[in-house]
Amino acid sequence: MKNKNNYDYLLSDLTQLTGVGKKTMSILKKKKVNNIFDLLWRLPKSYTDRSLSSKVNELQVGNIHTIKVVPLKYNFPRVRNLPNRVNCEDETGKIDCVFFNSYEGYIRKILPLNEEVTISGKISIFKSKYQITNPSYVSKDSSVIEKVHNKYSLTEGISEKVYNKIITQILKNLPILNEWHNDEILKKFDKESWNSSIIKLHDPINIANYKSNFYRRLAYDEILSSFLVNSEIRKKIKKIKKISKTFTNKPYLNTISKLNFNLTKDQKNALVNINKDLSSKSKMFRLLQGDVGSGKTIVSLISALNVIESNFQVAFMAPTEILARQHYNLAKQLFPKNKRIELLSGKSNIFEKKKIIQGLKNHKIEMVFGTHAIFQKKIIFSKLGYIIIDEQHKFGVRQRKLLSDKGGKNCDILLMSATPIPRTLTMSIYGDMDVSIIREKPSHRKEIKTYSKLESNINTVINFTRKSIKEGNQIFWVCPLIEESKKLDHQSAIEKYRSLNKLFPNKVGLLHSKIENEEKEEILNKFLNKEYLVLVSTTIIEVGIDFPNANVIIIENSNKFGLSQLHQLRGRVGRGSKQATCILLFKSNLSVNAKKRINILKNSNDGFKISEEDMKLRGFGDLLGFKQSGIKNFKLADPIHNEDLFILAEKQIREIEKENIDIKKYKPLLKLYDQADIINDIV
Ligand code: ADP
Ligand code: MG
Repeated sequence: MKNKNNYDYLLSDLTQLTGVGKKTMSILKKKKVNNIFDLLWRLPKSYTDRSLSSKVNELQVGNIHTIKVVPLKYNFPRVRNLPNRVNCEDETGKIDCVFFNSYEGYIRKILPLNEEVTISGKISIFKSKYQITNPSYVSKDSSVIEKVHNKYSLTEGISEKVYNKIITQILKNLPILNEWHNDEILKKFDKESWNSSIIKLHDPINIANYKSNFYRRLAYDEILSSFLVNSEIRKKIKKIKKISKTFTNKPYLNTISKLNFNLTKDQKNALVNINKDLSSKSKMFRLLQGDVGSGKTIVSLISALNVIESNFQVAFMAPTEILARQHYNLAKQLFPKNKRIELLSGKSNIFEKKKIIQGLKNHKIEMVFGTHAIFQKKIIFSKLGYIIIDEQHKFGVRQRKLLSDKGGKNCDILLMSATPIPRTLTMSIYGDMDVSIIREKPSHRKEIKTYSKLESNINTVINFTRKSIKEGNQIFWVCPLIEESKKLDHQSAIEKYRSLNKLFPNKVGLLHSKIENEEKEEILNKFLNKEYLVLVSTTIIEVGIDFPNANVIIIENSNKFGLSQLHQLRGRVGRGSKQATCILLFKSNLSVNAKKRINILKNSNDGFKISEEDMKLRGFGDLLGFKQSGIKNFKLADPIHNEDLFILAEKQIREIEKENIDIKKYKPLLKLYDQADIINDIV
C-alpha cells in the first residue's frame, strides 16, 4: 500500500481502489464522493447476518439464509421471460437457484456441477420447492460469505457486494495518523484514536451508536476543524495592516440629530465597535447581526459617513435593486448635501453608467450603492475603504474571503444579516468574523399579532383587509413562488392581483420578479405614497424593504415557507408604532408538526428564539436554507445532540487563540476535513 503513513491515501481518487472502475467512480462522483475520505461518511444503515449457515431442511421462507449446496443439473429454457434454473441439494433436501438476466456461461462458472459452493439469499418457495432467486452471494470459499454484511444506502448501479468490498478494502488500508488532539481532550472520548473510531463506525454492531466515544470523537473532529478554519481566517485578516480611518464625530452627530428617533443601546454599541475598527490599524471584518427591523441600516450608513469623512470611498451592496435604491434614498436624505453618492442601477443609461464609473475612478464619487454589479471588473475605485453588504447571509466563508481579498488591505468590511442563528452555530457559520449583535428592537415597537387561517375562510380575511384599509393601514399580500416552474413564478401573484383588484379597484399594486425595474420602482413609490393600499407580491419583498405604514401582511400557502422565512416576511410589517398583524393562510389542515412550528411563530417575535426552536424541530439540515449556502454541513456532528461538543470546541478555539498555540499538528485534520484551498495558505 502506498503512503501508508499519511493522509494522501485518503484524499486520493477512487481509482486507487481495486475493483473500482470508471463506471463505479462516475456513479459515486455524482453523489459527491470524490475521494476515499468522502466514502468513509456514507454509513451502514443496517446489516445482514449471513454468518449462520443452515441446512435445507431448516430453511424458513422469507428469511435470508446461507447454505452449502452441490449443483446437480442446469435448466436453461432459452425462452424469453423464463429464468435459468440450477437444481441443487445438500444431504437434507433440494433447493433451486433461479437466475433472471444471467448468462449461461456465468452460471456455469459460479455454480459448477458436483462441487460444493456456499450461496446466500432470500428463501422463497415455488411449486412446493425451495428456491433462491438471484442469490446475493455465491462462492466456493464459505468464509467470504459467512459474515455480517453491512447494508449501505446504495447508489443505483453499485451492488451491496461491490460496495462492501470497497469499504473493507479502505478500512484495511487506513493510514495511521498522528493524533492531533491533546490528552485532555482525548480523555473525554476514552482515548479513541481516529483510526479505530473509523473502523468502529463501519462495524455493523455499532450502527446508530451516536452516544459512543468513537462517534463523539469523530463528531468533535469535524466541529473543531470547521471552527479552526474560521478562526485561522479571522486571525489572518486581523493581521492585515491598513491605513486607519480618521474622522471627527461632527457629521455623525449631525446625522443623528436629523432622525426622529434615538438610537437604541445596541445600535450605539455596534457603532462604537465599528468606529473603533475603522480607526484601528487592522482590517475590519465584522458581521452586524440583528433581527428584522432592528435598525441595522442606519448604523451602517452612519459608519459609511465616517469613512467618507476620512477621505475613502464606500461601496454598499444590496441583494436586490429595490433594496439598493431604498438605502440610497435614505442616505441622500440623511447625509450632508455635499456628499457625492450615487446609485448604480440596471436602469441607468449608458451615459449615466459611464459617469459613475468615471466618478469612482477619479474619486469624484464618494459612495456607491448597487447590487453585485458594483463589483464588476470594469468598476475601479480610486480609494475604496469600506464595503458594506446587506442581507447576504447566503454568502459562505469562502465567498466572504474572496470579497475581503478583492477590497484590498485598506478596505474594511461590514456584513449585515437579519438571519439569526442558534448560538451553537455562530462559530461554524460566522467564526471568521467579529460579530456585533443588535438584540433590542426600537422601543416603540409592538409585537406583531400572528394568526393562521384556512384558505377556505378567505372571506374573513377579505373582511379584515377591508376594515384595515378603512383604518388607514396598508397591506402586503404575499403569494409563494411556484417552484416547479421558474417561468410561472409570478402566476399565483397575478391571479391574486386580479381578484383583489375587483374588490378594491385601483387600490392594488402587483410586484413580481418579471416586472421591469422602472415599473417596479413606480409601483413601490405608489405604495409608499399610499396610492396603492394593497401590494400583492411574490417573496421579492422578503429582504429588507422598509414601509413603515404597512402593518398587515397576509401570506398565502404558508406551508411552502420555512419558519425563518416566514419570520423575515412578517418583519416587513410592524415597523411603525401601530399594532401590526400577520395572517398565515393554509390550503389544508395542519399536521401536528406544522402546528407546532406555527405556534412558535405565534408565540414569539424574536428571530433568535425562533431559529433555536426551529432547529430543534426540524434538525439542522433544513435550517434557514443554510443547506444551499455553502455553509458547512456536518457529516456526523449535530448541533442539537452534540451541543456540548460545540461548546467544548469553542472553548478550545478560544484557548488556541489566546495562548497562540501552534496549529501545525492539526494539519492532517484540516487537510482531510476541509480539503479547501484556503487551508493551504494557513498551515
Ligand atoms: P433592518 O435591521 O431590518 O435592516 P432597518 O434598518 O430597515 O431594519 O430599520 C427598520 C425601521 O426602523 C426603519 O424604518 C428605521 O428608520 C427604523 N429605526 C431604526 N432604528 C430605530 C430606532 N432606534 N428607533 C426607532 N426606529 C428606528
Ligand atoms: Mg435591512
